[in-house]
Parts: sequence; C-alpha cells; structure tokens
Amino acid sequence: MKVFKFGGASIKSAEAIRNMCLIVKAHCNEKLVVVVSAMDKTTNQLERILEAKNNDYDYSDELNSLENYHANIARDLGENFQSESSIDDIFHELRGVLKEDFDSQAEAYDQIISFGELLSSRIIYTYLKTVVPNFSFVDIRTIIRTDSQFRDAQVNWDITTANSKSKLAEDLKSNSILTQGFIGADSRGNTTTLGREGSDFTGAILASILGAKSLTVWKDVPGILNADPKKLQDTIKFDDISYEEAAEMTYYGAKVIHPKTIKPLANKGIPLYVRPFLSPSEKGTCIHDVHVHKPHPSIIFKENQTLLSFRVDDFTFINEKNLTQILHAFTLSNIRINLMQNSALSFSVCIDTNPIKLEELNRHLGGSFSIFYNDKLLLITIQNYDEESIRLMSSEREILLEQRSRQNFQLVVR
Ligand code: ASP
Repeated sequence: MKVFKFGGASIKSAEAIRNMCLIVKAHCNEKLVVVVSAMDKTTNQLERILEAKNNDYDYSDELNSLENYHANIARDLGENFQSESSIDDIFHELRGVLKEDFDSQAEAYDQIISFGELLSSRIIYTYLKTVVPNFSFVDIRTIIRTDSQFRDAQVNWDITTANSKSKLAEDLKSNSILTQGFIGADSRGNTTTLGREGSDFTGAILASILGAKSLTVWKDVPGILNADPKKLQDTIKFDDISYEEAAEMTYYGAKVIHPKTIKPLANKGIPLYVRPFLSPSEKGTCIHDVHVHKPHPSIIFKENQTLLSFRVDDFTFINEKNLTQILHAFTLSNIRINLMQNSALSFSVCIDTNPIKLEELNRHLGGSFSIFYNDKLLLITIQNYDEESIRLMSSEREILLEQRSRQNFQLVVR
C-alpha cells in the first residue's frame, strides 16, 4: 500500500484533475490512499472571505467566484458528472456557517477554511470513480482526531491510530481510498485544521499508521531543488536526501514540504518521494535513510523576518537568568525563534514578523529590557555551505547578523 498526496496546483482545473486521475490509475496495481488538498488557491480565497466576514464587509462576489470556479471544473469534467458531484449542498452549508458566530476567530477559521478540502474531495472522488472504479471515499474527520487548538490542531495519535486501523485498514482490504488532507476533528466533532499546507502531514500520518511502502507528494517542481527556482537561477535537483537534511530544510523555511511531514516517516523508515505531476514518469527526489557524501549546498530564503535585540540598561551583562526570562516570554507568546545569538550586552533573535505576537511578548516581559527592532529582513540559510555559496549570498547585501556551524551558514540581511 502506498500513500499519494496531491496539492492545490495538481488539481487546479478539470485538465489537472484528469491528469491526476491518470497518475492514480497508472499505480492502481496496488492499494492506494490518495490525499487531496483544496484546489489551487481556494484556501487563500476562503481566508479572504473570512476576513470580509470578520470586518462586516460584503463577501458575496468572492463567494460567488469560488462557487463558479468549482462548478466550472465539475462541468468541464463532464455533463452527467456535474449533477452527480453536485456541490450545491456544500455551498449551502458554507453560506450557513458564514452566518454563525463562533467562540473564537481560530474556531471560525477552521469551520470555514476546511470547505476547500470538502469541495475538492467531493468533485475529485466523483470523477476518480469513473476512471478507477475500486475507490472508497473516507471523510478524514472520522479518522484524524485532534485537540481543539484550532488552526494548529495537535494530533491525538492513539485515537487516530485506532480509527485508522478499524476503518481505513478494513476498507483497504477491498478498495483504495480517497480522502482529504489538512483537516481533522476534535472530541466534540468540530472540524479542526493542522496548519497551512498541512495536507503533506496528513499523508505522513496515514502512511506511518498504516505502514505504507512510501508517501509520494506530487508537485509542480521536478523534485527537491537546492533553491527556490523562482528566486535563484541554475538550481539543481537532488535525487536522494536524508531525513535529517530534509527536516532541517523545512525548519529553515524551504516550502517544498510541510515541516511536520518528516518525523512520522523517519520514525518508521518510510521513504518520501517528491515527484512532478507534469512528468509522472520522472523519479523526482527520494527522502530516506541515506548518507549523501558531500551534498551540494542548498539555499533557503525566509522572508518577512524581524530581528529583535534585548538589552538590560546600565551596561549590565546578559546572563542566564535574563535569557530564561526572555525565552519563557517567547514560549508564552507562542513565537518560534528562527535564529539567536548573544553577546555581552545584548541578546538577538530572528523571528517571523508578527506584530500581534510581538505585543504579547512585550506584555510578558513587562519592560524589563530595552528592545530594538529591525523589520523587513530576510533570513538566508545555506545548508552544506562552501565559500562560493557564501560569497554569492553575502555580496551586495547589508548583513545584520551572521552565524556559522559545521553544516549551516546563516545570514540575516536587509
Ligand atoms: N489547503 C491547505 C492550504 O492551502 C492545505 C494544503 O494545501 O496542504 O494550506
């Protein structure tokens, strides 16, 4: 059994869905669990609708355009098919949910944003059955149990494992399965989400619990490249990457796979393939238990960074007690540190820009430190650096901070 995950770009039109179903068909000599995310930029569009709702703006045009987009895809997949897959009831429900009041913004977010996956899975399943008959549909909310931390729900592995074994493993005896990524449900049955781009993680959860031979994430790139081709020219594709390298890449901001995806697979030794859906015969990149001798440098850009420097006034040295106080405030404000460095008189931290969380951090520190900010920065990480890659990345840039370990070279630049 294998798990396949198809993201927004691979299912963004009727033509793309046909291509996706042909890929599935070509592999249906063995059982598959196919995980789909929302189509194209649907999640962003739902976020805009939610923002309009929150600000009491009119969102009807945006909602109608979302409905037309999905209805057009259903129509383009075939006339009979359109009525069979009818998405009217889903839009009817969405309109109802948009009128409800929720206890928190985060709860409203998950109840509304999850519609992207509900729509895509309905349309794709109806079409997929006409191409590959032996497929069942499973609503992943009956399988993935999470806590109620909306927008970043944490998986309850025990319940999810029990659900997967009783429902998915049973279904898999006779059929392959199509399901949604990104969403789950809490103990009260409320829909939750696993964090943006979380469908890769769904694929990894299912592959790990079901003991899949592999997880394949079908992407619009040839595999994992040593840099984002939209930002740098002359990128190279890796054939093999170790779990460790891949985990670090995602940690430092490479967007090719969701950061939580690696751990469940690495723990079970399940390979992760990143393959191009436009050239499905190419083998892409395999992330597995491998040692690559002298890997090529990878360059990862993380934009929208803020550099904070904390100082105690009066030339007091930064000591362990200060550091504990500062780090505790970071934990309380739920801010992830991307890089840190300390000197005698100051402690510097690079984080994703987020004014709301910064305010909270300030509250927790209650004026104990002077804090200096630099915004609109870029964090560049060079994994497996060499002097040439450092030269390339440093030249003609204003460097605010740099750090070097044996594997990684990092720069915070303007
Ligand atoms: N649809 C969700 C998002 O765009 C999840 C995913 O694509 O993985 O973030």
